[in-house]
Amino acid sequence: MLKKKGLLYKQNQERENCCLVMKALVLDGVYNLTECQQPLTLVEKEKPVPGPEEILVRVKACGVCRTELDEIEGRVKVAFYPIVLGHQVVGVIEAKGIHCHQLCIGDWVGIGWFYSSCGTCRFCQQGQQNLCSEFKATGLDVNGGYAEYLVVPETSAYRLPEKLSVVHSAPLLCAGAIGYRCLRLSGLKDGQTLGLIGFGASGHLVLQMAKYLFPHSPIFVFTRSVQERQLAQQLGAAWTGEISAVPPSLLDCGIDTTPVWQPVITGLAILQKGGRLIINAISKEDTDKPELIKLNYQKHLWQEKEIKTVANVTPQDIAGCLSLAEKIPLLPKVQEYSLEEANLALREIKMGQIKGAKVLRLD
Ligand SMILES: [Zn+2]
Ligand SMILES: [Zn+2]
Repeated sequence: MLKKKGLLYKQNQERENCCLVMKALVLDGVYNLTECQQPLTLVEKEKPVPGPEEILVRVKACGVCRTELDEIEGRVKVAFYPIVLGHQVVGVIEAKGIHCHQLCIGDWVGIGWFYSSCGTCRFCQQGQQNLCSEFKATGLDVNGGYAEYLVVPETSAYRLPEKLSVVHSAPLLCAGAIGYRCLRLSGLKDGQTLGLIGFGASGHLVLQMAKYLFPHSPIFVFTRSVQERQLAQQLGAAWTGEISAVPPSLLDCGIDTTPVWQPVITGLAILQKGGRLIINAISKEDTDKPELIKLNYQKHLWQEKEIKTVANVTPQDIAGCLSLAEKIPLLPKVQEYSLEEANLALREIKMGQIKGAKVLRLD
């Protein structure tokens, strides 16, 4: 009897323990992705507990972003090790703190790069939380979505459009939201020419958003991949070509989403007078090669040309992208992977094997 009791106790204890732990992929240092096949390690980790203003989200899908490559290879510094990456999270609220009144247990929510900001500085007050010096990012300053669960402030989670599936919602939370911000910052007017330089996860969403918002604007797409050029044509690009190709006319606005430096130079050279180049990259991979950074004032900058970079996203960008996505409806092209296959998905991005957006699916 005692023995049986002991066994029962052990079984109960195991069940309890299994509810307190979760599977997570962690990064424990800087790795070069061309040399290291498995930079992220699958571990069992304590399941997080939400504070009074936080929600506990059971992750159903998490998008894979190029920024994770920057984090793994050390161009973007994570706040601590070991850390769980991932900032395009879709999931269900499983528990919430006592001060959460906006969202309910069981709600489907999305979580993006914006985790928190101070809320009181001049930037936060003007809706530029992305520039706050206390800006915190999901999967960089706090654990992200490459795990079965994560905890976030209730105010950093967004209800998802009902029309979109779990995997189709994930890429909207970064690739879509930052693309939306690029379009906002571009100042483009309907009828003006837009150039998309690079055509990965974000580019193919920007094209669909731009077609909807600026129906009379010709959109030119510059990418080295033949497959991506075909996709761009299917989605309504007026012209496609190589990264450094000369388009049929100059651009009123260019959006550069490539990870390298050269397109900044070629992009400025094909800008119309008074045109603007938006650079959507958290880092550029070859800025250490001065021979590549050759700006010619007359050719690249004169005639009131402008350059603007995009840093982070605001809550308004994420919410704005989600509501636009529902109207269009915006349909990301996705490739699905399991949580365990994240290393493979990251390596494919590193090697340029990108077909739309990559999403980890947890079921
Ligand atoms: Zn991202
Ligand atoms: Zn602030």
